[in-house]
Amino acid sequence: MAKLETIGLTKRFGSVPAAQHVSFQVGEGELFALLGPSGCGKTTVLRLVAGLAQPDSGRVLISGRDVTGLPPEQRGVGMVFQSYALFPHLTVAGNIAYGLRFSRLPRRERRKRVGELLELVGLSGYGGRKVHQLSHGERQRVALARALAPEPRVLLLDEPLSALDAALRVELRRELRTLLKRLSITAVHVTHDQEEALAIADRLGVMRAGRLVEQGEPERLYRAPRDPFVAGFLGRANLWPGRVVELRDERAVVEVAGARLPARGGGFPQLEEVLVFFRPEDVELGQGPFRARVISAELLGDRWIVQAEFFGLPLILYSPHRPPLERMLRFGFRELPRLLAPSGQ
Ligand code: ATP
Repeated sequence: MAKLETIGLTKRFGSVPAAQHVSFQVGEGELFALLGPSGCGKTTVLRLVAGLAQPDSGRVLISGRDVTGLPPEQRGVGMVFQSYALFPHLTVAGNIAYGLRFSRLPRRERRKRVGELLELVGLSGYGGRKVHQLSHGERQRVALARALAPEPRVLLLDEPLSALDAALRVELRRELRTLLKRLSITAVHVTHDQEEALAIADRLGVMRAGRLVEQGEPERLYRAPRDPFVAGFLGRANLWPGRVVELRDERAVVEVAGARLPARGGGFPQLEEVLVFFRPEDVELGQGPFRARVISAELLGDRWIVQAEFFGLPLILYSPHRPPLERMLRFGFRELPRLLAPSGQ
């Protein structure tokens, strides 16, 4: 078990700032998800932590020790990739044993350890198989076992579930979290899938264009993000431009288009121009002081997702029933909107 810390990691590729002053801490046994759209720099950060690339500036600390100058094999870091990166000519056991190539274990111990790892990832009895005889989910389990073989202090997972179909992805992410928690391993899990990040992480960081814009516990980031990009990236969001007309302790009144809305003002700096943020589930349809025109509705399964319009602003909300189109419907707020600074903070 180890603590991981990055301090101001910065890396440019020509004119592309792939990572800019990226700082985060992952506590012992903690699972940190790094989330962001394609090309935002997630893999770059992971490679800098692993030692597969050198930062232009910044440092990587593992258990308080500066490892920035160390080669990958001296960092005690294991890595799992989206593509598995297994050797097709080796058996499952051979692939896992490859993870032990730097260890000094005698042959018998090594065989025993491979058996334990196979059991750990639910593949007992698969040791003699060739990689091409495995399903994608099984291959990813082998890749995980190989990365865990040398007992790394920190495990880095780069989109490990992306190549799998949706149902398997959900099943494996549950297994993965259970396993990592059981081993109390410190891990960084990179993904572009917000649902996966929210489901798997103890804490998560959201990246955009090389920057880590916000980090925190999944629930806090989802419910009360500080950055509008994070609000929109972590789920469906209503973000309306408005002006604060009253701000008193916990309560604010915001002028939005043609209406005055109540909002939570707690802790918000005195700013005139704001974004009013709330999620579809914060809206109560059918009662309340406001009216919106229903434009379209799509069935999600257990409920409808409704696109509506409020004084020209788009409004997304949920309804248990199919709402009548083009009609004006009442709505109110179950949870009051929050105020965000338009540029984030
Ligand atoms: P994805 O989710 O698509 O894998 P990512 O968030 O992991 O994306 P990175 O792979 O870290 O993003 O890339 C960040 C930026 O740096 C991109 O613009 C990418 O094109 C660029 N980049 C990454 N590696 C290199 C490289 N070796 N040479 C040049 N540019 C690179």
